[in-house]
Amino acid sequence: MEKVILNGKITLKTDIKVDFEDRGYQFGDGIYEVIRVYNGQLFTSKEHLNRLMASAKSISLAIPFTAGEIEGHLQQLIQENQLENGMIYMQFTRGVSPRNHAFPAPAIDSVYVAYTKPILHSSENATAGVKTILTEDIRWLRCDIKSLNLLGNILAKQKAADAGCFEALQHRDGIVTEGSSSNVSIVINGKVKTHPATNLILNGISRQVMLGLCKDNGIPFSEQTYTTEELLQADEVFLSSTTAEILPVIEIDGKAVGNGTPGPFTRKLQKLFQDEVAKQCGSKQQLHL
Ligand SMILES: *Cc1c(COP(=O)(O)O)cnc(C)c1O
Repeated sequence: MEKVILNGKITLKTDIKVDFEDRGYQFGDGIYEVIRVYNGQLFTSKEHLNRLMASAKSISLAIPFTAGEIEGHLQQLIQENQLENGMIYMQFTRGVSPRNHAFPAPAIDSVYVAYTKPILHSSENATAGVKTILTEDIRWLRCDIKSLNLLGNILAKQKAADAGCFEALQHRDGIVTEGSSSNVSIVINGKVKTHPATNLILNGISRQVMLGLCKDNGIPFSEQTYTTEELLQADEVFLSSTTAEILPVIEIDGKAVGNGTPGPFTRKLQKLFQDEVAKQCGSKQQLHL
């Protein structure tokens, strides 16, 4: 039987229900994380849990556990569900209270849920690359918080899905910010460029791993804004996220990126990312690029 975490305790998935007065349900009032599991091991869990704590703090949501305690719960859940390769989704909401925009006073307990999902590695997108569209970024100005409020992201992703594409690349007044659920980087003349970690993007852990790999391997990079013109003229474009890892973008609005196939810098970063996973988790998975 599949297990989940409810408020720090392992429970049967079939035993939990959402309360209709949960503020996560009514307002999207909460925060979340997605952490990858390779070979039964959490990947970059410290970074994810630090970000979880930072997101919670940004919305004044009290989390009654330390990052270390939460990591313990997650490890227990991996064991219970015998998860080898997959992900853990976790969220905290501001709790259950009669509908009222202002925070419940006095404060009530948050509601904490986590579940696992296996990922059967199909490397088709990683091998072939993905198609994207370009769309206006209509989200709020605190995109650095991994909030449950995802309407802007959802509408962008659906626009991509309607166009038969994998991701929507968003821009604010002609400056490229990020994908709907991934960060986006470009390569021009052998240099990787990605939007700086400001309030306008979610500072992806995969993005940070990727930048670390550039640094350690002598690949020139800069955290600098770039325009939609630069995006469309880039030699290479790639996405990064916990579930997608590093993914080549081969098309934007029906126009080929470079020669329309994944480029050498993207390929190199995909391989380096895999090596990093293997180093940290002893993963046996190999991409066949
Ligand atoms: C989670 C997320 C990402 C990717 O972050 P990772 O930590 O690499 O998974 C990028 N953009 C948005 C909007 C996200 O929600």
